[in-house]
Parts: sequence; structure tokens; C-alpha cells
Amino acid sequence: MLRRLAKRVLNPWLHYDSSGPLWLTFDDGPHENTLVLLDALDEVQVRALFFVQGVEAERRPEVLAETVRRGHRLGWHGQRHVHPRELSGAALEADLARGRALLEAQGQRGPFWYRPPYGGLVPRLFPRLRRNRFRLMMWNCDSEDSERSVDEVVASLAPARLPPRPILLFHDDYAQTADTIRRLVPVWRDAGVEFALPDG
Ligand SMILES: [Zn+2]
Repeated sequence: MLRRLAKRVLNPWLHYDSSGPLWLTFDDGPHENTLVLLDALDEVQVRALFFVQGVEAERRPEVLAETVRRGHRLGWHGQRHVHPRELSGAALEADLARGRALLEAQGQRGPFWYRPPYGGLVPRLFPRLRRNRFRLMMWNCDSEDSERSVDEVVASLAPARLPPRPILLFHDDYAQTADTIRRLVPVWRDAGVEFALPDG
């Protein structure tokens, strides 16, 4: 049941076109390091989607606002970094409603993007996503930036190793993420990779 549901919802993002653009996504902020990353993204002229946590957004509203001001898009990554299986249906509903309000307050227009903490999926999540006008976005290329050095991440994400229509998962709370992006984007661009922001 869960697998069928998950497959249906994930389908557009798992069965991608080979010719599609690359989407950059950054999870878990906003963080002080996000500001350094925003400068790097300006330098390489790429816009990205930031999956923010509610508690971090409340802690650093100026970083959140700056992210939007620089032309990036926001998605919701939960009020706290809690796996959805730990939340009741009512708690998930409240979390998504809170996220939608935060995104709307930042000028985002629906449908809104949602990525569950830990990529965790439970059946009770799906009707609540629909009700709150959220679309699910997972990823098909994990930078593993929490475990790897910049050199290792850059090597592992060489253009030939990217999947078709790559959705890249990074984390903006790491100090080295900005360096990784400064090094990778020119390499990708030289290889003909195109960059885009998802709709919404
Ligand atoms: Zn996360």
C-alpha cells in the first residue's frame, strides 16, 4: 500500500526525462552558513530550492528573507527535523499548515514543495500534502555532503556520474557547501548541464 502510494506520488520525479535540467536543493537551514552559500550561488548564477526547517527559520528570519531576496525558492522541511512516522495525522496536518503559512508569508505561491525529514514517508502524509497544496520532492542524487570532503563530493558528482534530470541533495548548514558549489557548477556547465528551478 505504502509502496504503491509512494510510487504514484513520486512518479514524476523518478521517471524523469534524460534531457531535463539540474535542480539544486539545500536542506535543513536557514543557517549562518547559508549566507556564504548565497554568495557562491550568485557567483555561479544559479538559483536553488531551499527546504527550510521551521525552528531554524524562526531563529534566523533575516537569512530566510535574504534567500528569497536573492531569487531562490523555499520549500518546507518540517517545523522540526522529525521523521513523519513520529507524528500523528493531526500533528502532520498542523506541521504542513504551519509550513504553508511560512512559505506564503515569504511570498511563495502554491503549489508548495515539501521534503520530509530523513526522506521519511508514511501513508497518512499523502492526503495531508494534497489538502495543503504541497507537492513532494525527493532527490535522485545525494551529495552525501555530511560524510564526504569537498574533494570527494566534487569527484563523486562529476558530470558523467549525474543521473538524468538530476535533483541534487545538499545541506546548507555545512560551511564547505559553498566551496563545493563554486567548484562543481562551472564543471557541470562546461559539460552542458542546464540549471532550473522547479515550478511552484
Ligand atoms: Zn533534513
